[in-house]
Amino acid sequence: MTTPETSAKPCPQCGKPAVTEFRPFCSARCKKVDLGKWFNESYVIPGDENVPANDENDD
Ligand SMILES: [Zn+2]
Repeated sequence: MTTPETSAKPCPQCGKPAVTEFRPFCSARCKKVDLGKWFNESYVIPGDENVPANDENDD
């Protein structure tokens, strides 16, 4: 009610007030960092090592 223009949530990356242009982040930098983090997390997909490779291990 007192700050209608800054009703945005704080930047999830650093906690600073988010900027409309980079919502929900405060800057392009934080946005990039967050996206990169998500990219890295989603890049490591668990389950790829679950491939049975014991074909020649017929001891
Ligand atoms: Zn930030």
